[in-house]
Amino acid sequence: MVVARVPFIAGNWKMNLDHLQAVAFVQKLHWALKDAKHDAASVEVGVFPPYTDLRTVQTLLDADKIPFALGAQDLSTQDAGAYTGEISGAFLAKLHCGYVIIGHSERRQYHAESDDVVAAKVQAALRHGLVPVICVGETAEDLEKFGASAVPVGQLEVALEGVPADADIVVAYEPVWAIGSGQAATPEQAQDVCATLRRVVGDKLGADAAARTRVLYGGSVKSGNIASFMREPDVDGALVGGASLVVDEFAAIIRFQKHVGV
Ligand code: PEP
Repeated sequence: MVVARVPFIAGNWKMNLDHLQAVAFVQKLHWALKDAKHDAASVEVGVFPPYTDLRTVQTLLDADKIPFALGAQDLSTQDAGAYTGEISGAFLAKLHCGYVIIGHSERRQYHAESDDVVAAKVQAALRHGLVPVICVGETAEDLEKFGASAVPVGQLEVALEGVPADADIVVAYEPVWAIGSGQAATPEQAQDVCATLRRVVGDKLGADAAARTRVLYGGSVKSGNIASFMREPDVDGALVGGASLVVDEFAAIIRFQKHVGV
């Protein structure tokens, strides 16, 4: 079965841009893409602001009919109750979030999120109709010891436990050594691991899921290297950190689309 996967360019703002800066950023990005006659149907654009910006950004997207998807950077494993500081997937769904990043390496590193917690968060996202963007990737040490695929494969296998075959998910391969380092993986490395992760989706959820699930590459993606990643058959887009905070740079990344002769 041949399935056309719409490329997804997702901007993870991390802990940057307050709600006022967020409004200005989204407006400028929208204008930049309008000027360039960006075709919203040929690439999906997602913004992932801090929690405190979500309401403001959602209001702007809805009011101005701006065709960007909205996502959060994390969520709680729990749906409600005495969990101080936590944010429920139910709240995110009410704010029209379509997506939520889960298992980002910074959550795994600074908040000791285990593979089991990541799996519980994937379940929480699905309970509330949110598409989990499941992040996996190896550290430099893992790479040296086990090669590129072993750790991300293991992480994804646990994250997909109990996920139904018809679930809508996104997988993001983000080698930890490439995040924020300016040293991206090569397109061949990214293709290799993304193809392997697609096989894991196939083994766990079946061939249809493997064919329709978007697998992104993330780690020092910029306007200067996006084309080389998007040429790879198993790379369906990018999760972008630093470069998603610069309007012209993010707009330039978005303009590279798989099906328009890049
Ligand atoms: C990220 O943190 O998800 C990321 C890919 O960051 P950067 O693009 O800055 O490497």
